[in-house]
Amino acid sequence: MNRQQLIALCEAAGAKPVHAEKLLAYIFRRGIHDPDKMPDIPGELRGFLKKHSQPLSIEVVAEQQAKDGTRKLLLTMPDGKNIETVLIPGTGRLTQCISTQVGCAIGCKFCLTATAGLTRNLIAAEMVAQVQTAQELSENKVRNLVLMGMGEPLHNFDEVAQFIRIAADPLGMAFSPRRITLSTAGLVPGIYRMIEEKLPCSLAVSLNATTDEARSRIMPINRRYPIAKLLQAIRDYIAAHGRKRVLIEYVLLAGVNDTVEDAERLCGMLRDIDTTVNLLPLNVSPGSQFKTPTDASVTRFRSILSDAGFVAVVRKSRGQDISAACGQLKAEQAA
Ligand code: SAH
Repeated sequence: MNRQQLIALCEAAGAKPVHAEKLLAYIFRRGIHDPDKMPDIPGELRGFLKKHSQPLSIEVVAEQQAKDGTRKLLLTMPDGKNIETVLIPGTGRLTQCISTQVGCAIGCKFCLTATAGLTRNLIAAEMVAQVQTAQELSENKVRNLVLMGMGEPLHNFDEVAQFIRIAADPLGMAFSPRRITLSTAGLVPGIYRMIEEKLPCSLAVSLNATTDEARSRIMPINRRYPIAKLLQAIRDYIAAHGRKRVLIEYVLLAGVNDTVEDAERLCGMLRDIDTTVNLLPLNVSPGSQFKTPTDASVTRFRSILSDAGFVAVVRKSRGQDISAACGQLKAEQAA
């Protein structure tokens, strides 16, 4: 429940709405879910909570640590379905990569999560639980959330929006909206909903190609929402937020979208968009039909962008040795 819903719950229980703030702090700031451990909540409200809520039991079934310190947790949800979440160390603080669905329906050809299709959406509580479970197991604080794990966040809009509102509530989990990044494969209507609902987060878009032909081949979703519509949605998002930067992600696939012509076309496409470009050299998974470009070709692509005045960063691939890198999440031990 978000703040408004907790206020409504207090009212329904005949308690003062001010207790909603205490509940926010207990549940989301301190991770205390048992009403019996909330001494300053009136007994009647505690009774009401016990009657109308149920504990969400999430189990950590496996944990792997990569050489670079990246950790991947395999979590079992209450219905037995497994998902993965990844913790990436920075200077003293952690970035957590959150899954939003069990599997994914979008079908990008280079992504391992796509291979098994979609099993189900996660609910907001299961996303909150990913953060709280990871935080309990970590000394360092989780400071950044990236919705870049398994799933397409905008394909599960309501629950993802609920999670983001909870994560950004200053009385609860208190993540800065600038430090919550939602990454989408380009579901255009979802981007407009983010604008309408003023979702407190940043936007990242997986562009990944510079022609509709190439993009449709690697991301079938492009047939529904082609590049021109997607770029317009990004411009509208930036305009609605007043110079808010959007992150453009671009997976580099050798010989497919990493040529000099691609880099030049990309500069042209983005010339009127306030953006940072993240280049992601492909992380190869077994059976992949694509190859990672050479370092020289990655450098060449990046230089063309930076010479044109763009901020272009090659995303350091973290946790590759434990299949925790982008596009490698699959919950292999899934039952
Ligand atoms: N569905 C969302 C979020 C999950 S994917 C989206 O598409 O944005 C997160 C990022 O990883 C996306 O930019 C995606 O293009 C990228 N990605 C997927 N598979 C990859 C792979 N094998 N190697 C490198 N990046 C990959």
